[in-house]
Amino acid sequence: MPRESGRVLLVGAGPGAADLLTLRAARAIEAAGAVLYDALVGEEILALAPAGCLKIQTGKRAGRASMGQQTINALMLRLARRGLCVVRLKGGDPSIFGRSGEEADFLRGHGIEVEIVPGVTAASAAAAQFGFPLTHRGEARRLVLATVRTGDGEVTGAGWRALADPETTVALYMGRDSAAEAARRLVAEGRDSGTPAIAVENASRPDARLIRARLDGLGEAVAGAGFTGPVLLVIGEATARAGAAADRTDDPFQFDMRRSG
Ligand code: SAH
Repeated sequence: MPRESGRVLLVGAGPGAADLLTLRAARAIEAAGAVLYDALVGEEILALAPAGCLKIQTGKRAGRASMGQQTINALMLRLARRGLCVVRLKGGDPSIFGRSGEEADFLRGHGIEVEIVPGVTAASAAAAQFGFPLTHRGEARRLVLATVRTGDGEVTGAGWRALADPETTVALYMGRDSAAEAARRLVAEGRDSGTPAIAVENASRPDARLIRARLDGLGEAVAGAGFTGPVLLVIGEATARAGAAADRTDDPFQFDMRRSG
């Protein structure tokens, strides 16, 4: 039965592999009255939603038409006011380049209860799959999760100095088309042009791909890779430890998503 006033859960769907969904996220989806999902969320995860649950794709892949933020906000509000439990499902972790702050502010401002369910972010998934650490004693004391773009899609002009430190691992989100520009700015701020770097496409999925380059060759390597999926750039000494993708053909936990409740 719908409650008198619904609520909204901002839920991390993880990087793609269904078994990287948290149990809390799986349970939230199983109990949802409506699910609004990003383009990066896979079918296997959406299949957890109960029959009769409204499923609405909100888009959000670069270059493709997607629902505007105001439309998404208005829709969540309307569904919650109908008494539904609304799950706003986002790739990775909702608090990392997921607009969870904007959406939570809007909803709370309209008196709607908001809960946040974390997810595995792309950087963690890439590190796990390709066997490298994001921090490493004596080599990588800091991890910065950054984006290359400002809100209107321009390459940001400020803040690069903080990423130029040699002991910082830099994970750049939404950087595929700006890899050369990002590398150029890092080198201009003093980062060694020979710093090891990688680009990982489709982290956590069976079709994940990794390419390596020196920082000063990263732009060219990414441009030549023909990536079509989501791509994370990781720059720093720790990425020198990246190896082949871990073999995940068997599931050591024998985790059946449909019996998680
Ligand atoms: N909230 C997400 C990030 C959303 S921004 C998270 O925590 O992971 C979208 C960007 O995330 C993409 O442009 C890409 O840089 C990165 N990304 C998301 N999923 C990814 C994946 N499976 N593999 C590589 N990069 C990914």
